[in-house]
Amino acid sequence: MNTPVKALIDRLAAGHILDRGELITLLEQRNPEAADYLFEKARAVRHAVYGRDVYLRGLIEFTSYCKNDCYYCGIRRSNHKAQRYRLTREEILQCCAQGYDLGFRTFVLQGGEDPFFTDEKVVEIVRSIKQAHPDCAVTLSIGERSRESYRMFRKAGADRYLLRHETASADHYAKLHPPALTLEKRKGCLRDLKELGFQVGCGFMVGSPYQTNEHLVSDLLFLQELEPHMVGIGPFIPHSETPFAGESAGALELTLYLLGIIRLILPEVLLPATTALGTIHPTGREAGILAGANVVMPNLSPTAVRSKYLLYDNKICTGDEAAECRMCLGGRMNRIGYELAISRGDYPSLSKDCQS
Ligand code: SAH
Repeated sequence: MNTPVKALIDRLAAGHILDRGELITLLEQRNPEAADYLFEKARAVRHAVYGRDVYLRGLIEFTSYCKNDCYYCGIRRSNHKAQRYRLTREEILQCCAQGYDLGFRTFVLQGGEDPFFTDEKVVEIVRSIKQAHPDCAVTLSIGERSRESYRMFRKAGADRYLLRHETASADHYAKLHPPALTLEKRKGCLRDLKELGFQVGCGFMVGSPYQTNEHLVSDLLFLQELEPHMVGIGPFIPHSETPFAGESAGALELTLYLLGIIRLILPEVLLPATTALGTIHPTGREAGILAGANVVMPNLSPTAVRSKYLLYDNKICTGDEAAECRMCLGGRMNRIGYELAISRGDYPSLSKDCQS
């Protein structure tokens, strides 16, 4: 194979930065052979940085209430059929205790944007988790808040924050969100979070409605600019009670290709093989790891609420106990030659600000 795509992959793997035109070529002229070549390079980088360890994050979906109305999301405010629930602090702590026994050393608190959970309540929850498990990292994924709120969360001991940018193109952002939500605001939050010393994750959906290769290239350029510690990408999957009910899902093939590119652009990035990837294909998460991902985020939410946190249709593992998920994923990783690590799994070259 001696194609322009292969030459571009070689340049990426050698640490060069590609410009917009080159990234477009990398996407438009891809083919299965080039993808395999990309994955090989991405795995080499991943093995050099992380070996064959796969980091575990325990996802606790602690509220399904949301004040926002994102057109793609199953727990959007306007979905009156969505079942709403909130976990108490005690229930959250129980999830963490159970997770700790299963080898989890990172807990991710994710939810809709729920004003019930005031800054004070979030602070109290973060403090309690850090007190009970001082050797664990706490990640928040609760959307847009003020810089002052983020500062309080960081002071309370939160280590990381996930806030996907969803798309780095303002025109596309406006097609996925109501006017109250803007890309500018989202980017401001991400900047604040970085400045406050969080390990920060952004990310986007692959194959979301109206998305073009130009948009995806803007996403990649945005990653180059922000240099996040984590990047969450997964296929868009329609939810039947949203305006995008009739749209088609993002493709496995394109998601994997983008995972490989992201690994080369940001060699040390913490990159999950997401639940959405496992939803569109039975071995999607394994394929994600083999394309360069190094994180999995099984669910630690109580089984009673699992089936109520539905961002998209057909979500996997909604009936399983945490222990089952942990065992199942462990087996899946072993079968492809990888190992779940019992470790916080921090970003390797953390600046002083990010150490807790
Ligand atoms: N309220 C939090 C958590 C959002 S849910 C926040 O705003 O950050 C986490 C992610 O799930 C979202 O950022 C979005 O990228 C993804 N998501 C939502 N709906 C989806 C869908 N229909 N298909 C695939 N991913 C979806």
